[in-house]
Amino acid sequence: MIRLERINKSYYSGAPLHVLKGIDLVIERGEMVSIMGASGSGKSTLLNILGILDTYDSGNYYLNGTLIRDLGESKAAELRNRLIGFIFQSFNLINFKNAMENVALPLYYQGVSRRKRNSIALGYLERMGLKEWAEHLPSEMSGGQKQRVAIARALIAKPGVILADEPTGALDSKTSEEVIQILREVNRGGMTMIVVTHEQSVADATDKIIHIRDGIIESITDNPARDDI
Ligand code: ADP
Ligand code: MG
Repeated sequence: MIRLERINKSYYSGAPLHVLKGIDLVIERGEMVSIMGASGSGKSTLLNILGILDTYDSGNYYLNGTLIRDLGESKAAELRNRLIGFIFQSFNLINFKNAMENVALPLYYQGVSRRKRNSIALGYLERMGLKEWAEHLPSEMSGGQKQRVAIARALIAKPGVILADEPTGALDSKTSEEVIQILREVNRGGMTMIVVTHEQSVADATDKIIHIRDGIIESITDNPARDDI
């Protein structure tokens, strides 16, 4: 599903900063993995490259067998919209759109009619236990509810992989646990999932924990306990 070979990435906004230093990584279809590491170690940079939100300097990135390199912005956007769902720490919902409209947004970009996309969005909200909240604005919802809306939005275009950057970073521990359980359920349905996290309890819910340190993969640990959770 995902193969990274010797990926290097530097930022050149000030003094050059070598952020990813030869990352090799394979993630199989249906796996749920977590990425852990200190702040500034390159986790978000790695996730942004995986999500075709950012480019890399050297190496190869294959997504579903397609080499992701030197794509124009429109081709990148097309692959991103078709193949990848995103979940962010800060939810990234549109404040003036209600929950249903936020969930439906990826289908708008696919040219699906309003009636049809709203009806599909309602189905996903129902799956998240939020049917009654369809007409509410994000400002009327709790953090956990907002993240469930964001998960529904990530799922609606049926992506091949979900990328989550600190999805529980803004939630209290009880709500975090609920969100992790939802992500695990989605993964059990066959979705490949990559979760950047600071929290051991989140990592413990994944199949594999990738530790990154100063732009290098320090270790990849299988998580045998995961099946017992
Ligand atoms: P993490 O998510 O692990 O905290 P990041 O990938 O966000 O780390 O950042 C890695 C390093 O790259 C940090 O030192 C950060 O300041 C730097 N960095 C991130 N994005 C940019 C950017 N757009 N321009 C310049 N430096 C950046
Ligand atoms: Mg980060």
